Amino acid sequence: MHRMNFREPEPKTIAGARGDWEMVIGLEVHAQVSSKSKLFSGSSTEFGAEPNSNVDFVDAAMPGMLPVINEFCVEQAVRTGLGLKAKINLRSEFDRKNYFYPDLPQGYQISQLYHPIVGEGEVTVETRQGFARRVRIEHLHLEQDAGKSLHDLDPNCSYVDLNRTGVALMEIVSYPDIRSPEEAAAYILKLRQILRFLGTCDGNMQNGNLRADVNVSVRPKGSSNLGIRCEIKNMNSTKFIQQAIDYEARRQVAILEDGGKVVQETRLYDASSGTTRSMRSKEEAHDYRYFPCPDLLPLEISKEWVDSVAAGIPELPDEKKARFIREFGVTPYDADVLTAEADNAAYFEDVAAGRDGKTAANWVINELFGRLNKDGKSVSESPVSASQLGAILDLLAAKDISGKIAKEVFEIVWNEGGDPAMIVEERGLKQVTDERAIRSAVEMVLEANPDQVERARANPKVAGWFVGQVMKSTGGKANPAQVNAIVRELLEL
Ligand code: ADP
Ligand code: MG
Repeated sequence: MHRMNFREPEPKTIAGARGDWEMVIGLEVHAQVSSKSKLFSGSSTEFGAEPNSNVDFVDAAMPGMLPVINEFCVEQAVRTGLGLKAKINLRSEFDRKNYFYPDLPQGYQISQLYHPIVGEGEVTVETRQGFARRVRIEHLHLEQDAGKSLHDLDPNCSYVDLNRTGVALMEIVSYPDIRSPEEAAAYILKLRQILRFLGTCDGNMQNGNLRADVNVSVRPKGSSNLGIRCEIKNMNSTKFIQQAIDYEARRQVAILEDGGKVVQETRLYDASSGTTRSMRSKEEAHDYRYFPCPDLLPLEISKEWVDSVAAGIPELPDEKKARFIREFGVTPYDADVLTAEADNAAYFEDVAAGRDGKTAANWVINELFGRLNKDGKSVSESPVSASQLGAILDLLAAKDISGKIAKEVFEIVWNEGGDPAMIVEERGLKQVTDERAIRSAVEMVLEANPDQVERARANPKVAGWFVGQVMKSTGGKANPAQVNAIVRELLEL
């Protein structure tokens, strides 16, 4: 496997009265498994359904109802573990995490505290080209989501929607390896990209399908001890995560510089004031009275099954990026853009196959992605298919059309569809390379502009103006290099 060589970025520091402080950050990311049904019941996970319409007896915790594990969700957790280059545990166990909340009918959440399904792994987080931090994953476990309390529908009461209750979540816990707000954001986005490549979570942060608890502490720069941390709960915006970390780290530095102690607690970020505030003191495992869930047997999976899941893992972002650079000669930056989404990468590969990689990258990034962005479309909705774009690039490579006409053909295909070669043929867009035709077009422009001819002879830069005029008079079809040569020849430059 190709491994990129990276340098480690500097930690973000905060200047204090007696020296610099550095930030230490660890994330617990909750990723909703892309599954049609819940972790322990058959009810639907559809987003935005009528409240309490996707709730069955297990979700509602009716007495005597037993959970049944959803094999598909287990497979997605294993896929994700493999994508994080992590150890897969062939035996894992479910525990009950007990707490009371109106949106938790069982009175406990089924989770995996002691024996998670996935062990240690790692994610490479590139903050800028050539600089990356390896963030170690401590573990990944499966757990149920809770329901949702709605407090703003009625002035006098709260409502509970249980549609979300029991939906499968993967909690991905990192080691405290992250050293700046930017790295934290890049880490989440990298996780999101990997999950989307794997298809195990759609990564929709707005819908809360990917959200993070952010643990922040500070320590004197260069220290290898860990400071006392605070945990900022339930963040689903990379922008706010960065703001929250920045605020929280400064708050802690101020306390420590004042001779105080940071209190380990759970805090909430308030986006309107840009500050964090205390929510509750830090709870420990014993506060939840964890114990093995008596309704579920330990989960045992076979090595053969894990191997068969591994065989279905697609090429992941890091490997794809390295291969695009190697195989197609694109820049690291372009490779990042092209591999941001698996669909985009596949489209590019179709266009680049058997063609010049750099030209293909230019066209896909600047013309296609640019145009898609403008219309708010994704690659899968592109009116121009990869084979149509490829055909335009073939016409360009064969010098049948100029770059300018190629853009015109692209626009025609975008609006009307059709075969690029036929469009060029039928609309007479073929590039004129006939020496005599170009010469006579140049002559006509020179004759019509005697003053400019004088000027150009005195100042050769003016020759460019003639090239432009000839291109215009030929409807952009003349071969620009030939026009340029003939203009210079006839102007005697
Ligand atoms: P808990 O069991 O209380 O949830 P963990 O040790 O499992 O605590 O850590 C939870 C998260 O907090 C992990 O992502 C970890 O990397 C992070 N973390 C732990 N200690 C620190 C620290 N001192 N500073 C920043 N993050 C930390
Ligand atoms: Mg935790």
